[in-house]
Amino acid sequence: MKGLQGKTAIVTGASSGIGQAIAVRLAAEGCNVVINYRSDAEGAEATAQQAHEGATAAGYPSQTLKVQADVSQVADIKQLFDTAIATFGRLDILVNNAGIQMEAASHEVSPEDFDKVINVNLRGAYLCARAAIQQFLQQSQPGSIINVSSVHEVIPRPQYISYSISKGGMGNLTRTLALEYARQGIRVNAIAPGATETPINDDWVDDPQQEAIVNRHIPLGRPGTPEEMAAATAFLLCDEATYITGQTLYIDGGLTLYADFREPWSA
Ligand code: NAD
Repeated sequence: MKGLQGKTAIVTGASSGIGQAIAVRLAAEGCNVVINYRSDAEGAEATAQQAHEGATAAGYPSQTLKVQADVSQVADIKQLFDTAIATFGRLDILVNNAGIQMEAASHEVSPEDFDKVINVNLRGAYLCARAAIQQFLQQSQPGSIINVSSVHEVIPRPQYISYSISKGGMGNLTRTLALEYARQGIRVNAIAPGATETPINDDWVDDPQQEAIVNRHIPLGRPGTPEEMAAATAFLLCDEATYITGQTLYIDGGLTLYADFREPWSA
């Protein structure tokens, strides 16, 4: 895709799932990719290997760098950005992908568990965006940010109150930063995946019966793949999307189309 070659990208939570696919895709588009991971060093190494294979096949000399950092920790974020910038000399792209979810009835969620999810999904995303924007402003060329949100940016999610709030907040994080830094040429967008085949969904991925139940709710009749999320991310970051900012792109097989309205309710 136009304009991605030679850029430097940080992808948080890139040792599995959507983050892994995004890191691999960006490397195949010619980006140098910083693979952030929290604890899964093996997953990060798998990402690096796939990224290398993809870049080689595409004929790009993309490099990768694995950096362990917990995005809920301020000191870790500083170390992540310092290491990335010291290695590649610049930063062009941040993908805020790291995310967790915890299930419990809303009246029973402990304050500690609530904070845990918000601290990774929303506060972590903001603090990484803050560090990226500080670097973008020091450079001659502005950069671009993608927040990995969710259909739960707009669809309420009972039993997952902290996740629901974090993704709702991510919509406003995207729009607020987009507006605040548009004059400097910094673009901020979000992708909002629907049900996607990744480890976060291991309660139904690899269970055909459970997956059939999930599929019934999706107008296109199947879950999304991490690669489909990565393709949309690459598009929003590339030079075909230079007039797009502050938007959330729903990549959800129609999940946000109110599937209950597929048939008329009454004659
Ligand atoms: P996943 O569990 O494979 O990926 C989440 C990644 O975040 C993991 O690699 C994990 O190690 C990392 N992570 C968690 N806490 C972290 C921390 N404190 N610091 C750094 N990294 C951390 O699942 P996924 O589906 O690939 O999720 C990626 C993103 O996509 C998440 O933000 C998730 O909310 C979002 N999403 C997923 C779906 C889906 O159906 N899979 C749908 C909508 C949105």
